[in-house]
Amino acid sequence: MSKPAPLFNRLALIGVGLIGSSIARAARSLGVVETIVATARSEATRRRVAELGLADEVVDTNAAAAKAADLVIVSIPVGVCGAVAREIGPHLKPGAIVSDVGSVKSDVVREMAPHIPPGVHFIPGHPVAGTEHSGPDAGFAELFVNRWCILTPAPDVDKSAVERLASFWTAFGASVEIMSAEHHDLVLAVTSHVPHLIAYNIVGTAFDLRLVTESEILKYSAGGFRDFTRIAASDPTMWRDIFLHNKDAVLEVLGRFNEDLATLTRAIRRSDGETLFNLFAERRAIRRGMSALTLDAPAPDFQGPDAEPRAEPLPRPYAGSDDA
Ligand code: NAP
Repeated sequence: MSKPAPLFNRLALIGVGLIGSSIARAARSLGVVETIVATARSEATRRRVAELGLADEVVDTNAAAAKAADLVIVSIPVGVCGAVAREIGPHLKPGAIVSDVGSVKSDVVREMAPHIPPGVHFIPGHPVAGTEHSGPDAGFAELFVNRWCILTPAPDVDKSAVERLASFWTAFGASVEIMSAEHHDLVLAVTSHVPHLIAYNIVGTAFDLRLVTESEILKYSAGGFRDFTRIAASDPTMWRDIFLHNKDAVLEVLGRFNEDLATLTRAIRRSDGETLFNLFAERRAIRRGMSALTLDAPAPDFQGPDAEPRAEPLPRPYAGSDDA
């Protein structure tokens, strides 16, 4: 069985951490691009990318990576997307597609779009898949399997370019959904951003509590704390940028969250078992119903006859439960 024709000739990856290196690995294994050129901010990461053989070419600057690329994917913290778009803008090839993977969309669009020249298709994206690990060693080709990838193109963006980018993500086993950047930010504030904030917060609360020792927290963490707070091990730069750039939606969700928490607090203070029971029963039903909504996308063949041998994926004790 021969490989399908590549969807893109030259893929440029700007940023090769967890997400960028997973894209590189998946694109390689599946043959969806002809050539991969990659770059990262530091010399150390660029050297590691070359050592791992994640790209055909590793270049020193973002501009050099973008030049002549048919598809450019910016996989860096959202706070630097605008500056990087300014750097690469003048070097983009007419007809190229520029996308990103940032966990926030409205601000990224506002900061990147002015630097993308006419004739280049700007299609922001966000693969809703991840782990709490970072860097080029952390990625794995299967990261996007059975996950959503949200694209937020402006209404006037060329439809065939959107379809080509959607095919790129579906080749990785993802399902593609298209929505506005604003709606994306609200959805992700509820499903990802506020949960991460709560996890970071509860770790602080637990360790500031002088009545419970650190060793007791570690010893008894199986009682919910360990699973619930795993996401607080995520990269602080990435999460600082997410909260600074999705401020409005996060504040909206936090306001509602605090109201709901106040209801629970009041019920506990008043020993109001009926309210607690009813709320827990209602929410258990919602949570159980969510299991029925998992994706059922066909898994891509990462081990096809022509696929290059791939490195064993990292152990993923929590795979499938983390999305930034
Ligand atoms: P990561 O593992 O920390 O990697 C970030 C990469 O960006 C590194 O290669 C870094 O290079 C590079 N970089 C930073 N600033 C740069 C610049 N100015 N120019 C060029 N390269 C630069 O991060 P990640 O987890 O892959 O996250 C990347 C993006 O994906 C973020 O926007 C995040 O919101 C989004 N995202 C993350 C997840 C997740 O679970 N992690 C899930 C979905 C989406 P150096 O190593 O040299 O600093």
